[in-house]
Amino acid sequence: MPAQPAAGEAVTLDPARVAAAVHAADLRVLLMVLFHVTGDRKWLQAPYRPRRDVQLIADEDGGLPAEVQDDIRRAATEILSRPGFVPAITDPGDTLMQEMMSVCLGEAVPDEYAPMMRQQMGLMPRAEDLPPAPRKLAAGQLPVLVVGAGASGIAMGATLLDLGIPFTIVEKNAEVGGTWLENRYPGCGVDTPNHAYSFSWGERYPWSRYFAPREQLHDYLVRSADGFGLRPHIRFETSVTSARWDEAARCWHVGLRNPDGSSETVRAFALVSAIGQLSQISIPDIPGKDDFQGPIFHSAQWPEGLELTGKRVAIIGTGATSMQVVPTVVDEVARITVYQRSAQWARPIPRYHDPIGADAQWLLAEVPFYAAWFRFTMLWRYGDGLLPTLRKDPDWIHPERSLNRVNDRHRQQMADHIMAELEGRPDLIAKCMPTYPPYGKRILLDNGWFQAIRKPNAELVTDDIDRIVADGVVTRDGTHRPADVVVLATGFRIAQMAARLNITGRAGRSLAEEWAGDDPRAYLGIAVAGFPNLFVMQGPSTGLGHGGSAIFQSECQAHYIAVCLSRMLNEGIAAIEAKPEAQAAFVAMIDALHEQMIWTHPGMSTYYRNSRGRVVSVTPRRLVDHWTESREPDFNAFHLTPAGEELARAG
Ligand code: NAP
Repeated sequence: MPAQPAAGEAVTLDPARVAAAVHAADLRVLLMVLFHVTGDRKWLQAPYRPRRDVQLIADEDGGLPAEVQDDIRRAATEILSRPGFVPAITDPGDTLMQEMMSVCLGEAVPDEYAPMMRQQMGLMPRAEDLPPAPRKLAAGQLPVLVVGAGASGIAMGATLLDLGIPFTIVEKNAEVGGTWLENRYPGCGVDTPNHAYSFSWGERYPWSRYFAPREQLHDYLVRSADGFGLRPHIRFETSVTSARWDEAARCWHVGLRNPDGSSETVRAFALVSAIGQLSQISIPDIPGKDDFQGPIFHSAQWPEGLELTGKRVAIIGTGATSMQVVPTVVDEVARITVYQRSAQWARPIPRYHDPIGADAQWLLAEVPFYAAWFRFTMLWRYGDGLLPTLRKDPDWIHPERSLNRVNDRHRQQMADHIMAELEGRPDLIAKCMPTYPPYGKRILLDNGWFQAIRKPNAELVTDDIDRIVADGVVTRDGTHRPADVVVLATGFRIAQMAARLNITGRAGRSLAEEWAGDDPRAYLGIAVAGFPNLFVMQGPSTGLGHGGSAIFQSECQAHYIAVCLSRMLNEGIAAIEAKPEAQAAFVAMIDALHEQMIWTHPGMSTYYRNSRGRVVSVTPRRLVDHWTESREPDFNAFHLTPAGEELARAG
């Protein structure tokens, strides 16, 4: 987000650009700009009240009559062209914010969202949001060690830097970016709108589309890490091999493998796992993989420069990755065979591939508050709205196909989409129509998937795979389909999380053992009983299955951890550890909530659940709950051990 003009700061825009650009403006956003600049309440009242529009990329006219639209554009041209105008309102505060949000969207937005949105839009000065910086660090203060320089590590590092808390980030790769560095398959991109899938502070990025390709996402993370000044704090090509809590010294001893292969042990005041949920690839246990004579690889390890032109490609899996690969390569390859185990629900997103034009780019870059309110519309539309519709209605009469009335309507809409896209292909309709409720597995966006699989050179195979052979794939019915390349788009091992860092906590407790059986548990998904001064990001029960962005979650967790560290350093607390009873109560609450949610519905598999059916990945709670609790941790849930005192706890 760009820094908004400070109170009293004058702004001068190029009148010619203003006059041209207002025609590309989203009028509900422009109305909020007019109110910020003038403070005139008429812009919050009829006839300037946009209509509610639930499309992800809404119509820019705000559903307003033509003459009202003209009025807004005329006024904006005149007001924003005044040299040296000084916005009347910079930070509206919570009460006014709630009113503005509701007017902007044409629907009542609850007031609890006001502080979260002010922060996320950059209206609330960052200094006001951050916890107090440590007044004075102890001589030789040990650093915080952050593992991973993806989006989570960047959020954590930037926050620690702002607070002046010493830290080091270790990153196994040679560059920042995590999943967006590693995944390079054709068509790779984000399916969360970028104006929401980005940090709430730091430099604004000129996304070329609403859903940016992987190259821009990676570039954005590199620029953010550089812009925040993180690079000197990162040790690249360095992996964590173990971490052991030292009860007497109240610190972590962390084993590292350096770029030259040498080993080293460093000490850290606190350990933060920022290794993400999507970095452990899942290789299917299909016989004969090693017999294949051509390239065979996981989608996250796409070979650099692989030439697919004229090749016969087999792709196993139909998740988000496959959904992006297949439409991208179908016209290039001789033949593509897609092996599907489960059918997938996919939402059509009109304008998904639309570029953001020069005028809209200029508005986002130059007009104060425009980017902030545009971000707000995306945060809201891709936010908590869907969550209530993912709860089971115990009285619903069609649990075999949906959860409740709204979910049933969504099912009908997506089923209609499949029927329309695959019209004339009853064979494909039968294969592609899921039998479970929509949103039961991670929802996908239709990037041209249905159009791709109906092409003459594409085949969707739903027979089970029996084995891979030297020159192709054989299904259970004995059919051998030749292939030159096999892509394993088979997803990731989610549940191991921080346990794979080989962490030993208090009294020799092993995190891998505590979380054995793919059953990770943590207080708020962040802190683990038995593991003092350990924080995990993107941990258990914090993933997002209903909306929002992983970057938002990273920011919330970074903030929460920063509040804890700030208090520890300011109050001389040497160790912080979640109480077992607080963790157990939290896990019980999450499990009980999940019983009412779609991800425990029978009749489908989802990687959100572990092998025993417990949902370990995603949260059943709202984004606003995560944000709010990240601002005010409940320290009663922790044992806090002052420096120099014996650890006071049991268990
Ligand atoms: P995924 O969603 O886990 O999909 C894996 C696919 O492989 C599924 O269709 C699965 O079938 C199939 N599969 C797994 N093991 C198999 C086996 N032994 N035999 C046959 N089929 C098998 O993985 P993904 O597509 O890589 O996506 C993972 C996550 O990455 C996404 O959910 C998302 O969070 C993220 N992602 C995001 C984007 C984006 O933002 N645009 C893009 C790509 C990925 P079943 O469904 O039957 O299990």
